Amino acid sequence: MTRPESSLIRARRLASRIRNEPRHMPSPCTRCRDNGRQCLVNLSSRRCSECISRSIKCDLVVSPPE
Ligand SMILES: [Zn+2]
Ligand SMILES: [Zn+2]
Repeated sequence: MTRPESSLIRARRLASRIRNEPRHMPSPCTRCRDNGRQCLVNLSSRRCSECISRSIKCDLVVSPPE
């Protein structure tokens, strides 16, 4: 049996996961690049984890998804 609502729920869950989970940026911010760190960005905060933990401004430009 196919349940169309289950695929919708799965898509919503995936969308919220992408919003909430940090993303690895292909081009790191200046701080991460200087320190050779992975630039993990939480899209809701628009700062990377490195800059958040150091309480500094992140110069990464996060383009919002279309
Ligand atoms: Zn960074
Ligand atoms: Zn940063």
